[in-house]
Amino acid sequence: MALLTLPWEVSQRLVAGEVITGPQAVVKELVENALDAGASAIQIEIWGGGLEMVRVSDDGCGIHPAEVELAFRHFTTSKIRTLDDLHHLSTLGFRGEALACLASLAQVEMVTRPRGHLAGVRVQVEEGRVMGRWPAPHPVGTTVVVRRLCSPTMSQAGEASIREVVRAFALAHPRVRFELRWEGRRVLATSGSGDLRGVVAELFGPTLASTMAPLGPLSQGDVEVEGLISRPPASHTDRHRIYVSVNGRPVRTPSLLETVEAAARSFFPKGRFPLAVIHLRLPPWLVDVNLSPTKDEVRILPQQEVLELLREAVRRALRETPPTEALEAAPLLGSWPPPRLAEGPPQWEETPLRPLGQLMDTFLLAEGAQGLYIIDQHRAHERAIYEALLARQGQRRPLKEPIVLELKPHQAAMLRGVPALLAELGFSLEEFGRHHFLVREVPHLLESVPGQTLEEAVQEALVEEEGWLERLLISLACRAAVRRGRRLRPEEVAAILTPYQRPGAPTLCPHGGPIALIIRREALARQLGLG
Ligand code: ADP
Ligand code: MG
Repeated sequence: MALLTLPWEVSQRLVAGEVITGPQAVVKELVENALDAGASAIQIEIWGGGLEMVRVSDDGCGIHPAEVELAFRHFTTSKIRTLDDLHHLSTLGFRGEALACLASLAQVEMVTRPRGHLAGVRVQVEEGRVMGRWPAPHPVGTTVVVRRLCSPTMSQAGEASIREVVRAFALAHPRVRFELRWEGRRVLATSGSGDLRGVVAELFGPTLASTMAPLGPLSQGDVEVEGLISRPPASHTDRHRIYVSVNGRPVRTPSLLETVEAAARSFFPKGRFPLAVIHLRLPPWLVDVNLSPTKDEVRILPQQEVLELLREAVRRALRETPPTEALEAAPLLGSWPPPRLAEGPPQWEETPLRPLGQLMDTFLLAEGAQGLYIIDQHRAHERAIYEALLARQGQRRPLKEPIVLELKPHQAAMLRGVPALLAELGFSLEEFGRHHFLVREVPHLLESVPGQTLEEAVQEALVEEEGWLERLLISLACRAAVRRGRRLRPEEVAAILTPYQRPGAPTLCPHGGPIALIIRREALARQLGLG
């Protein structure tokens, strides 16, 4: 038979089929790009099982107007330059292939605006060619819309499979806010608070999240493992609930998953499996991602050491007895296993805590009669606001601009169901039109929360009827609370600690995470060998 070099379009299609294997892969590639762009919020919208439309918006760095068309060329990337860079990857993408492949399988539209530019650029790409370019308004960041994904082998994706893709990214990136809309319905949302337990609560429910055991952090050399694992009896019949990420990349590498499963097996009854979320961090040159066009397999060079560390972390997490009673601090003296230094959550004391200051812009330090308290500023504040909201303390705050809520009929019914309670909590609502509400006042505790965020929290809480009001208060408290990473003035530290200056104050945040650890005087003496 005569040999023939395939025409360009055919070769493009062949390559594209390896990268874009279906709607899930579209979502995955676009979310990777958004994360690589440093996004703190990513919205994903799916219509027609992903074949009709996938839209991904981010608030990342955007693309310079001069480079927008380049992004759609094969092997064109801003992420690596040399062969050597391939061994030092800190990004999820590097092949410069995804957008080019998408453009040969679908109609792609991109609107992007980098910081420092007043407007964005919209481009329309069809059959790999840029068909038009216009200035277009867009906040800083990028939106990519993929329409009419078409290939004979591709079929519509189910809601669950897309949700699974987004879930894996959300669990690997707790600081990023994710939202997934399926045929117009919000089916997944995380707050981006940075708290892994909070993300698990948002994705799997607060009850399961609150019973999960901390796994690690445990490290050996440059390799670190950290996460959460459910304790028996909380378990799944599904063995696929083990989410492992390597340097922020969700992976399904069989050796990693099997190791976790095998280490957990003896703690669970037959046929039951843990829910586990595990972050592995290691220097990029020890990880090879360039194994398949879809990049979801990785090879880890010190494979045996990493698997051993993972096994040890799982066993230790599950061996710990009652939930949230004992957290281990990193080994100070290098003994193995390390003696326990800190424990949590401690009971609050009778004698006033003496605020000492802030550590790493994240933890509050305070001295009590029993020792040193290390307090998570976000959780402490969050729980205090939640309690105050529940106790219906404090005044209302009129909003400068009332918020308009546009609701579905069944959601409107949920709001109408509890008018007195909402008023008592400090919200003033007015109904107008069909299923529209005007929010004029909110509790003053929510002063710092922008209108749009309030609206999002309400929409999120109304996704499901059961427990919606509690979910709303929790998510509002989370958004009003100081974030981790914010430097606080001494008076702010003292104010956050005030509600905890009494025994019996809460020890867990509303998502179920411990608020504080204590290092007792005796533990310090023991660790320092003071007898
Ligand atoms: P890769 O991610 O492997 O570099 P892609 O085809 O996915 O390849 O993207 C090509 C380039 O387009 C990226 O290297 C990046 O510079 C730019 N890009 C794509 N998506 C985004 C986005 N959401 N925000 C900013 N830049 C983007
Ligand atoms: Mg990419």
